[in-house]
Amino acid sequence: MAHSLRQKLTFPFQGLVIAAGLLISTYYALRLPLEQIDLRFLLLASLTLIISSRVAIKVPRFGSNITISDTFIFLAILLYGGAAGIMLSAAEGLSSGARVGKKARTILFNSSVMACSAFATVQVLTLLFGGVTDLTQHSFQMALVAMSVMALVQYFTNTGLVALAMSFKYNQTFWQMWSKNYLWTSITYFAGAGVAGFIASSVGMIGIYAILISIPMVSILYFTYYNYLEDIRSTAAKAEQATRERAEAERARAEQAELHVEELNRHLAEQERISRELEESREHFRYVAFHDTLTNLPNRALLNNHLQAAIDRSKKETTHLFALLFLDLDRFKNINDSLGHVAGDELLISTARRLEECLRPADMVARLGGDEFAILLDGVDEYTDVIRVAERVQRELKRPLNLNGHEVYTTASMGITLSTNCYDEPENILRDADTAMYHAKEKGKARYEIFDSVMHARAVARLQLENDLRRALERHELVVYFQPIISIERERIAGFEALVRWQHPQKGFISPADFIPVAEETGLIVELGRWVLEESCRRMRGWHLLYPSEKPLSISVNLSGKQFTQSNLIEQIKQILLETGLDPRSLKLEITESVVMENAEIASSMLLQLRTIGVQLSIDDFGTGYSSLSYLHRFPFNTLKIDRSFINRLGAGDENTEIVRTIMTLANNLGMDVVAEGVETDKHLAVLKEMGCQYAQGYHWAGPLSAEAAGARLAAQVVTAGS
Ligand code: C2E
Ligand code: MG
Ligand code: MG
Repeated sequence: MAHSLRQKLTFPFQGLVIAAGLLISTYYALRLPLEQIDLRFLLLASLTLIISSRVAIKVPRFGSNITISDTFIFLAILLYGGAAGIMLSAAEGLSSGARVGKKARTILFNSSVMACSAFATVQVLTLLFGGVTDLTQHSFQMALVAMSVMALVQYFTNTGLVALAMSFKYNQTFWQMWSKNYLWTSITYFAGAGVAGFIASSVGMIGIYAILISIPMVSILYFTYYNYLEDIRSTAAKAEQATRERAEAERARAEQAELHVEELNRHLAEQERISRELEESREHFRYVAFHDTLTNLPNRALLNNHLQAAIDRSKKETTHLFALLFLDLDRFKNINDSLGHVAGDELLISTARRLEECLRPADMVARLGGDEFAILLDGVDEYTDVIRVAERVQRELKRPLNLNGHEVYTTASMGITLSTNCYDEPENILRDADTAMYHAKEKGKARYEIFDSVMHARAVARLQLENDLRRALERHELVVYFQPIISIERERIAGFEALVRWQHPQKGFISPADFIPVAEETGLIVELGRWVLEESCRRMRGWHLLYPSEKPLSISVNLSGKQFTQSNLIEQIKQILLETGLDPRSLKLEITESVVMENAEIASSMLLQLRTIGVQLSIDDFGTGYSSLSYLHRFPFNTLKIDRSFINRLGAGDENTEIVRTIMTLANNLGMDVVAEGVETDKHLAVLKEMGCQYAQGYHWAGPLSAEAAGARLAAQVVTAGS
């Protein structure tokens, strides 16, 4: 620990005081009037040394001591003069110093302080009153002044020297040390001087016994004072204890508060963490809610939001134009089926990236589901820009792609709708773009179509048709008509083709060419087809019963693609035959060439199964589809129906007639009968007859007839045959 300059003065100051003390003690020891040293003095000296060494009062809060030895020293001065008083004082200092500390320096310093203060007292008293031994002989007032001076000088020198030494040692100002430790001890000195004065004045009268009497007095005084100090001390101790307790409590409170703050901080940090996570997860949920997980593209919901914003903006600013492109990949199902779903997913992902590359930052590409994508071009200058983007997208998608080592080519069919159609709802924009896309598909795929009002009207009508068709079955609006199939050779009805009719309550007659495709798409064909089949078989069974003949009439029923691939078709047919009681050999199922070719893998087995249950098979509309003559021998057909587009042109002298002849020859070679469809004129009939065609149907004889009309024809035929 570094000592200040003041602290460095402690030792020199103590040395100085010790030197002075030794000097004074030596000087007065030599001048001690030995003749005056009597029994009384020895008694006084021993009392001083014994009492002061036994009884000392510790000064509260500081640790210094005060004694009552001053009373005896005063008494010695007053009774035996300065030299005796100074010597007793120095001796008392030695004895009390030995009690305070072990160090010789401390003991010497203590003794020297006592010597110096006694010396100063004696000097001042001698100076003021001419001597010290007869002070009590003056008047009472004078004696009082003298005692006060004695007390004051002793008090100031004694406490002053000690306080000065302490101020050096503890590096505090003199005033701080003195006022704190000694200011209040002055009372000891005044009391001591008073008692000493009283005893000294009484000595003359009562002698030595006065001193003995004074002992209880001094003791009472001392103990009263002692108690007073004890009281102070305990109060101080209590105060100190209270202060300590208060400090302790404060410290505990501070600690508690600190703990609370820590706890609070922990809570806050935790809360912050939770809220951060919550935010983060909110962001995550938002992202998931508005994005497609496979391609990471915005989904339909987000596209809808952007479309709404585009609509709102174009309403406010009439110059703001936007367009929506609806894309559908053309061969996706094919790729998915042949290369697997992983490859399919890869194709979708790379399509997403390619589409993004085609666009400006303001545009948006979204995945709507499956292989459907949409592009929103928000803010276009003119619509030729939209066409340019559509063409760029098509070029971009055409580039070959490597999937699992397979080089794959894709194209997209696109429908485009423009904001000039004045939309209010995002759904309508999507609906129209979808409609246009559908048209692009119909027109041969890998192309784009722009939505227009005609398309819209058609789409609405189609939707209406769909809804009406659902109800048509329940409301019995459908009727089966029967068109006679004529044996050219026998000139008789050989059978009928069942052709369904829809008598719409508002729209009147609706052609099967219009509603069969809708029924196909919506799946209604399954129910519809079953009903037609049942109705036809029942009718034919009735005619068989009414008009029996050697060669039973046959009933031809058309089978659509969906019906043909229906897994329970065989069961269904068997059941209908069972229910109606119709001979399976009288049922002929017409399947178009294209349906057979589109389902080439299952067609053979399906046709064979149908043959095993005994029904007959016709290939319908032959010549319009793939015209794959080479495939014909692979399928177990009984009959081939030449499409009416060939028959129509018969006799025109062109190569068409030769085609019909070739088909007919081939069919006969394969063991098949031929039915010529759409025979309208004598000329047609003549050519077919000449070619050796067995059967024909057409307006030349009759169009599709109601069941009653068809029955009437049969009845008439029976009459004709019978006549
Ligand atoms: P399809 O099977 O080729 O039927 C023959 C179509 O030619 C019928 O048209 C018939 O009315 C028409 N037709 C008959 N003779 C002549 C003629 O001399 N001249 C002209 N121009 N046309 C003639 P329809 O009844 O309109 O049927 C159209 C198509 O609808 C049918 O073609 C068939 O593919 C389908 N279809 C009709 N009914 C059903 C059915 O119940 N189920 C299924 N799946 N398809 C049906
Ligand atoms: Mg047909
Ligand atoms: Mg046909």
